[in-house]
Amino acid sequence: MVLVFAETQKGKLKKAAFEAVTYGRKIADALGTTCVALTIGSPENGGDLGQYGADTVKDIKYDHPIMDGKIFTSLIAEVAGTESAEVIVLNHSTTGKSIAGRLAIRLDGALVSGVNSVPDTSAGFKVDRVVFSGKATATIQVDAKIRILTLISNSFPSVASGDTVNVETLDLSVPDSDLKHVETKKQEGSIPLPEADRVVSGGRGFKGPENWDILLELADAMEAATACSRPVADSGWRPHHEHVGQTGVTIRPNLYVAIGISGAIQHLGGVNNSKTIVVVNKDPEAPFFKAADYGVVGDLFDVVPRLTEAVKKAKG
Ligand SMILES: Cc1cc2nc3c(=O)[nH]c(=O)nc-3n(C[C@H](O)[C@H](O)[C@H](O)COP(=O)(O)OP(=O)(O)OC[C@H]3O[C@@H](n4cnc5c(N)ncnc54)[C@H](O)[C@@H]3O)c2cc1C
Repeated sequence: MVLVFAETQKGKLKKAAFEAVTYGRKIADALGTTCVALTIGSPENGGDLGQYGADTVKDIKYDHPIMDGKIFTSLIAEVAGTESAEVIVLNHSTTGKSIAGRLAIRLDGALVSGVNSVPDTSAGFKVDRVVFSGKATATIQVDAKIRILTLISNSFPSVASGDTVNVETLDLSVPDSDLKHVETKKQEGSIPLPEADRVVSGGRGFKGPENWDILLELADAMEAATACSRPVADSGWRPHHEHVGQTGVTIRPNLYVAIGISGAIQHLGGVNNSKTIVVVNKDPEAPFFKAADYGVVGDLFDVVPRLTEAVKKAKG
């Protein structure tokens, strides 16, 4: 059986949850077995996972205000044991990564993190994972009986082809959390960065936080999430959760627009798997142009407002 842990946010399934279940379905088909989706915290649309390939959806009630990786690990491990899971799929997200390693230890399984392909099960179990910040792919042969995989987002578009299913509530006792919820600080912007289909990102070329309005207007017109380079976050121009790159968030949107960012290797490490990259930079020699699908050589203070107007006109 393939067990997929489907992540939720604000009482609903994340986009990544549907991708994970679509992926889990493909593995289940390859192994000739079933695909079970597990939710924790009773999302309102849990049954929709059936449309994306889950034969069954199981849910565990969870009332604590924050995700506790230790508790989630024990709950997922318990379900994996009861259901005799051979493969467990999680997202390669902060939550997924905080659980996957613990799960591997607890179940004596093998973890392959950052997978981006359907395993080859023709002779054993081989799966590809991204390495060197997305510059190369390594094929891993997994000999353990329980394989735990974390799936890179946007590797597989979610595909709805089946029907909604009933959600079965599991009667598992949830241990008390050692974590105490102190305060919640809401992220700016309505589109969470790792989930975003389109991202508009700014670098030091903006000169200062007072100039960010033009980027926000473009992002707004494009219905995109906003991101930034590391020095921008380090200087406090933008919040740290927007920092993308090797030491920040890794993203894989369909469209990444990089404005006034040089394209250092550490930045590219977090964004170079975006489907389409557009670069705006006044320096024609900026390294980012080598990774770009489309480039505009020009002053961002001139280009960005014109881009926003063009997007608004195209939409209107
Ligand atoms: C261990 C380590 C980890 C790191 N991790 C990360 C990471 O995760 N993410 C990350 O981003 N960085 C990371 N860095 C930093 C990275 O090496 C670069 O220093 C950083 O990405 C540069 O940011 P930037 O492109 O915004 O600034 P700059 O390198 O200063 O580039 C600014 C760009 O803006 C252009 N520009 C200037 N004015 C204009 C204008 N008016 N119009 C158009 N273009 C203009 C310039 O031509 C230039 O290309 C890391 C570094 C180290 C050592």
